[in-house]
Amino acid sequence: SAKVHRNEFSSYTPDMNMKAHDRLRLESDLRRALEQEQFMLAYQPLVNLQTGKVVGVEALVRWHHPLRGLLPPGEFIPLTEENGLILPLGEWVLRAACLQNKAWQDAGMTPIMMSVNLSMRQFRQHQLVDRIKSILEQTGMEPRYLELEITESMTSDVEFATETLASLKKLGVQISIDDFGTGYSSLVYLKRLPIDKLKIDRSFVNELTENGSDAAIVTTITSMAKHLKLKVTAEGVENDEQLHFLREHNCEEAQGYYFTKPIPANLFENWYRHRNQI
Ligand code: C2E
Ligand code: CA
Ligand code: CA
Ligand code: CA
Repeated sequence: SAKVHRNEFSSYTPDMNMKAHDRLRLESDLRRALEQEQFMLAYQPLVNLQTGKVVGVEALVRWHHPLRGLLPPGEFIPLTEENGLILPLGEWVLRAACLQNKAWQDAGMTPIMMSVNLSMRQFRQHQLVDRIKSILEQTGMEPRYLELEITESMTSDVEFATETLASLKKLGVQISIDDFGTGYSSLVYLKRLPIDKLKIDRSFVNELTENGSDAAIVTTITSMAKHLKLKVTAEGVENDEQLHFLREHNCEEAQGYYFTKPIPANLFENWYRHRNQI
């Protein structure tokens, strides 16, 4: 019964105390979830702060677990990164996101960017570039509308990162650095890496208007990005005050609950039409 399952484990997040047999159970649950396509994508818009229009959307995975309900990525992504299942899952996410964006364009929607998160393990996967290339071909999605989000930690092997990002750029996709400011990027390498955008981590946006240090960090990032000719998105915008601050400090785009939480594709379509007045 559901009750029994609930008591067997409290979370899918791997920890030191997780028993071997629990781990195996979770792995087999995840494998079945992949086979049965129990995953879904939620979409959160990226809004241009000058025009107020939707210019992109980030695809965020959820697991529709038959017994535990809708699980957020924090409850299963870490485990998949540990056991390697992030590779097939990540590929499912990429394909589903590309198919969705293509479908929106085919339905007459003005093209918008589709952002997809890459995990470290995917980034290091030998055939990453070929796999993304074939997903783009199979889905008919134009590469220039795909944006891949990586984190600063993935760029620590600078030589590898530069080479991999250069091959991805050759495909014609865009690259952004997610959670920017929480890692330890060297500014020198930031200048050298072939990236297009910085996404300011929401921890800096959260108290933007009450905390002078956060305000200083945000304005420093936006002005640095301008000099490096990088775009900037602020994550985690939740209120008017943050929005006004960001607009006044030349931040181009924002994302956050202020606009909407991540929502299923059909709800996003309505939201988009309403927002862009079409
Ligand atoms: P992320 O890439 O930084 O995604 C943004 C997260 O912040 C999302 O959580 C989103 O729901 C949340 N968020 C957005 N606006 C606000 C806001 O205004 N306030 C607050 N408090 N939160 C906001 P979510 O969907 O639970 O995803 C968590 C993380 O899981 C993501 O963080 C990303 O690192 C990872 N993730 C999600 N989908 C994928 C995926 O397909 N592949 C990989 N590798 N990782 C994924
Ligand atoms: Ca992200
Ligand atoms: Ca982020
Ligand atoms: Ca993150």
